[in-house]
Amino acid sequence: MELKVRQRGGTIIEYGDQGVILDPTSNSHSYPTFVSHAHADHAAAFKHPEREKYATTETYRLLEAMGWKRLDNLNQVKVGDTVKLDEIEVKIHNSGHVLGSVQFEVNTPEGTVLYTGDMCTENTFTMDPATPVECDLLIIETTFGAPMFQFPKRNEIAVEVYQWAVNTVINGRIPTFKTDSIGNAQEIISILNKYTNLPVVTTKSATKVTDVYRESGYNLDSVDANSDEGRDLIDSGKCAIITPKGSKVPTDLSEMALASGWAVIMNRGRVAFPLSDHADYKGLLGFIRKCKPKRVLTFHGGKMTKDFHNHIKNTLRIPASPLSTRVETIKGPLMKNENRVLACSRQIIRTIRIPGFVYQPTWLAKEMSRQGFSTDETENSIELLIEKGILKGAEGGVRLT
Ligand SMILES: [Zn+2]
Ligand SMILES: [Zn+2]
Repeated sequence: MELKVRQRGGTIIEYGDQGVILDPTSNSHSYPTFVSHAHADHAAAFKHPEREKYATTETYRLLEAMGWKRLDNLNQVKVGDTVKLDEIEVKIHNSGHVLGSVQFEVNTPEGTVLYTGDMCTENTFTMDPATPVECDLLIIETTFGAPMFQFPKRNEIAVEVYQWAVNTVINGRIPTFKTDSIGNAQEIISILNKYTNLPVVTTKSATKVTDVYRESGYNLDSVDANSDEGRDLIDSGKCAIITPKGSKVPTDLSEMALASGWAVIMNRGRVAFPLSDHADYKGLLGFIRKCKPKRVLTFHGGKMTKDFHNHIKNTLRIPASPLSTRVETIKGPLMKNENRVLACSRQIIRTIRIPGFVYQPTWLAKEMSRQGFSTDETENSIELLIEKGILKGAEGGVRLT
């Protein structure tokens, strides 16, 4: 029996005929289901009430606060718990991202996989850093996995945040933060509570989510914009407002600021604070080093972080590749060669579209690696397509016949 990992409607980890699915995005698998945290791109399993899910109580409460309905069939877990499923065992660890967010350590007789979900490696005003766990195979998120993403120290950001807020009030305007309702909203409330006397007013889901944080033991001082007190504060102009991205601001006096990790690459001219509930580039590399994995699989990146697996290989000397539909093992990708080469060939045909244009094999290998194919598979596919008369060799590469 072999430990196998792949991405298909979620992250699937299999051992023999058993398996688990983590943060599923579709309802296509019947494996026991684990949800890492309450952000919508991870919690889709809760759209299927008939499905049995493992998640923290906080994740459940946050989804409820965000207006999700019929959140049935929850098996509550907490940090430190171990869920035993015959030969597979899932241990729950803190991921440092938002309230209730966890990582999953999946133990099998053949080895251990750590799935980070979304994670933050810093000590923030609301969360303890993600716990590194020694493992054989590490599946890590790479939202900010590029060298350009280097966040300033949390305390330095906090100083900028409260100074801007206080100065804005002095100038007769109301500092208004547009943020994610879960995570950054509570981080800013904490900062303003700690360093200023400025009352904080929240709107819509930012209010409901903050209530869940309070129920979970957080000492956050804020009021809802629609309460009498909230309205009085907004009229007085002596407060800060926290409002979810995309929702309407309750006053014309607002001076807007964004709080998000993306602030580090935004052009100046607008107020934006690089406050993130994800690890930055160095944070990710440091975390990987502490987990001592034999192999790393990356997920959740975008265009800007698609090379993170190469950075891992070059900097840490640990084999790494993007998690894809390809079946991965601790030793490397599982080659079901013939089918893989056929699939890769089809992908190459989809990619090579310009008649007469010469495509370099190295470029093709790079394109195909994004689809989860290895250089070997790409080379074998090119040979096959030449054999079949679909491609032919040309100066510096191949072209359509
Ligand atoms: Zn998240
Ligand atoms: Zn996410």
